[in-house]
Amino acid sequence: MSKPVRVRFAPSPTGPLHIGGVRTALFNYLFAKKNGGTFYLRIEDTDQTRFVPGAEAYIFEALEWLGIAPDETVGKNEKFGPYRQSERKAIYKEYAEQLIANGWAYYAFDSAEKLDELRKQAEAEGKTFIYNHTVREQLDNSLALSKEEVDQRIANGDAFVVRFKTPTNEVLELNDIIRGTVKFDTNLLDDKVLYKSDGMPTYHLANIVDDHLMETSHVIRGEEWLPSLPLHHLLYKAFQWEAPEFAHLPLILKPIGNGKLSKRDGDKMGFPVFPLEWKTEESTSMGYREQGYFPEAVVNFLALLGWNDGTEKELFSLDELVASFDLARVNKSGAKFDPEKNKWFNHQYLITKSDEELAVLFAPIVKEKGIATTLDYLTKVIAQVKDRANFVTDLWNLSDYFFVAPTSYDEKATKKWNEETKGLLQKVIEQLNFYADFTSLTIENSLKDWMTANEIGMGKVMQPLRLSLVGELKGPHLFDIIEMIGKEETIKRIEKAIAKV
Ligand code: GLU
Repeated sequence: MSKPVRVRFAPSPTGPLHIGGVRTALFNYLFAKKNGGTFYLRIEDTDQTRFVPGAEAYIFEALEWLGIAPDETVGKNEKFGPYRQSERKAIYKEYAEQLIANGWAYYAFDSAEKLDELRKQAEAEGKTFIYNHTVREQLDNSLALSKEEVDQRIANGDAFVVRFKTPTNEVLELNDIIRGTVKFDTNLLDDKVLYKSDGMPTYHLANIVDDHLMETSHVIRGEEWLPSLPLHHLLYKAFQWEAPEFAHLPLILKPIGNGKLSKRDGDKMGFPVFPLEWKTEESTSMGYREQGYFPEAVVNFLALLGWNDGTEKELFSLDELVASFDLARVNKSGAKFDPEKNKWFNHQYLITKSDEELAVLFAPIVKEKGIATTLDYLTKVIAQVKDRANFVTDLWNLSDYFFVAPTSYDEKATKKWNEETKGLLQKVIEQLNFYADFTSLTIENSLKDWMTANEIGMGKVMQPLRLSLVGELKGPHLFDIIEMIGKEETIKRIEKAIAKV
């Protein structure tokens, strides 16, 4: 029987979670749910120099907002806790020592200055310095020193690191669920640092130890971790542990130009690359939530960054994604980020929401404008304009004339107005005053009958009338607007236009 599916999202809290990280979390979530497994979140905070306050809370809040919170994590179902690596420090030491005892790792005492010097020296000769099999025997480490010397230096409190002793002359043929077989020449790898004498493991050691102890069945992560795959594979071998399966997700690419979508691209190009807004003393980065995106829309467009179900279908609820998700259908090549398409996704979710639901979301915006109205009225307004909105915040610009009289009038259109126009508008007011039944269709029929009877051209009345009520030649069916704002307001606006234009 195969192992139960347990997958993880393992972010380092070094700043706000980038949209690429969110996609990694989402694909792990989908894979877990699809396979009846567990999605857990582990905080990889062993690099204390890169720790950013607030980043961890941000990660949890973002996943919560998107509806893809982990099943197990810090403070929640801590089956294999702690889920913060900084609280697991004591665990890693014994594993580092085990690797040394088995000949898979060694102590190295080389100072940072010495290594820097070697790097510069190599550079001057047009080479790159790599700490690996070609030089390791000549450096300041337990492979070159006697056991006594090593023990003495450790007892003296000399700073050291533990390095992985990469085997030589091996070609590793490793499997990736998305990429198939990937080959690596071990001679080209460096002896990565696994552990430091300050008691902290590096990412590589902590990540492998924890993935093992937390019974991870599949590692699904970004393509930028593919170069670490050979080392990770060798670490599993060194520990004699069964390795999980690996899947490296394609990069998310800039909307224009080449390369990976970066954290700075969003603010530079005017779209969010973070799920939630992120504020520091120096700057604020936009968030999808604050920009008015629905979490369902964000989940939907992220799912399609590098995956599709093999059909043309683009709109998926989270449940539908879970049902159709398959790692085998994830692309190898990078996925272009398309901020315009993201707006389209939001629009699709907006129009499927009921007018009543949207009214509740729109109400605070209208209230902020100092307008007193009812949910019932807002619901009717929304029915008239929502087809043109991408965001709830668009609704105001699309519908302001339902609440307030225009303060200016489209100049190009009103240029044609003359005394006749004003006279006709005056007559329209008289007509409207007659009508007892003030519903859209009755007003329309009555006014059109009056125009026909008096041989008045349609355009001569309809255009000025729309301009009087809306200020521009835009908006839904004119008589619907008249019914909505009512007789008194309609007449007031026409009078105002006659006086102002
Ligand atoms: N802590 C790593 C990161 O920040 C995790 C990489 C992995 O999933 O192995 O992305």
